[in-house]
Amino acid sequence: MTIAQQALQSAVRRRMARAVVIRDAKAYEALYGQLQGAMSNAWSDAMREGIAGALDRLRDLGPGKFTDQDGKMILRVLEGSVGAEAISAAMREPVINLTDALYRVGAEEVGKATGVSIAFMRPDLDALDILKSGNLYWIGNSWNVNTQNLMAQALEDYFTEGMTREELTARFAKDFGTLAERGQRYWEILADHTATKTREMGRVSGYERAGIARVQVRAHLDERTTRICRHMHGRIIDVPRLREQRDEYLEAVSRRNEPAAKAAWTMHGGDADLSNTPTSKLDRGTAGPPYHFRCRTITVAYFGSGDSDIDRWTRAAYDREPLGRKDIGTVIDRAKGARWPHTKVVRGHYRKHGGRLGRNTQADYSQAAVDLIRRGDRDVYLSMRQGVLNATFVRAKTITLASGKTRQGFEVTAVDMTENKITSHHWRAKIETTGDEVPAQKQPGRGIMKWLTQYWA
Ligand SMILES: [Zn+2]
Repeated sequence: MTIAQQALQSAVRRRMARAVVIRDAKAYEALYGQLQGAMSNAWSDAMREGIAGALDRLRDLGPGKFTDQDGKMILRVLEGSVGAEAISAAMREPVINLTDALYRVGAEEVGKATGVSIAFMRPDLDALDILKSGNLYWIGNSWNVNTQNLMAQALEDYFTEGMTREELTARFAKDFGTLAERGQRYWEILADHTATKTREMGRVSGYERAGIARVQVRAHLDERTTRICRHMHGRIIDVPRLREQRDEYLEAVSRRNEPAAKAAWTMHGGDADLSNTPTSKLDRGTAGPPYHFRCRTITVAYFGSGDSDIDRWTRAAYDREPLGRKDIGTVIDRAKGARWPHTKVVRGHYRKHGGRLGRNTQADYSQAAVDLIRRGDRDVYLSMRQGVLNATFVRAKTITLASGKTRQGFEVTAVDMTENKITSHHWRAKIETTGDEVPAQKQPGRGIMKWLTQYWA
């Protein structure tokens, strides 16, 4: 086949692969699995070959003491099978093809969600080209330094222990088998990281081509969600900011500059605490996911206009940005008009919470909920609960339990700001509650009631 025919054939194959990708809703999962499998298999094959080759050499050397020279020779043999070049060559085809497919899946997901057919332009294709060779390079290189050190260390130990070649042969197969298994876990993490990052970069192309201005961070919320993603969840990021991050990263990758690539796209520890960092104050390397290794967070298109008060406050809550005094004054003023949705609702809440708060009648309880909003000595918190902006009015309150013991905590009134209705009035030990997808953020609300009263008096 001529080069032109080969090129044509591979173009046709790519087109067909793309058609499959678009139809398959589980495309990402499937591609990710393929990448993991391909990397994992290439690694085991290479490692098996490397171990077998090194053992053959040891046998060829015959009996005697294991020397420093022997160690160097074994490293050379292993390098031939699992060194950067060998690993890159073994993984080349799946990594290049799957990078392409994952990037397109990211873009297509945006296209499907927005009903726009995504046509790649020059910058998208350029980014994809850099990414393909970059992914391949990191995959070969990042493991290599680490493995080489481990291998050299193991061989050094054998040498120091003063082993014979026979003793070494027995230990070698076992120790390097363990190294091969540790490698498997490493490839899993790297495949995961490569897949999620590539897909997110494809999404950036998708957002740009679909004319999306902002995206929202969406974490997979369950008991495994990391602290950092719990606090990144819901934030709204401008697409140009994502593009900037992607470009900086790819620029570093194209120069094979690892420190610059790491700085462009920070991998945090899962426990990193960004709870009090507003989106506008996030460091440059923190924009799009993944935010850490094994991150399941993605982005989705955000369509909030920012025109209405509620829209602006909602966005501020998602971004962990405290409102200004003027806005919080308006929030409080609006919440002052909030009512219980129905007497039945009040009765239910009164029966559950009234006793603890020391309210002996339903009327008392109902009024106390409203009064707490108006007091000057309460704090105001904003949170998001199932996509609804929630204002919580909070005052410290110590209660006495049936046993006579006292407990410190808080008296709260929760208000659904969209419908301006009171959703609860109760005592709780902590301000945070598990029902909030964006945890309560303290606002500059204390004393604002007084200020408003003076202002309008
Ligand atoms: Zn995460």
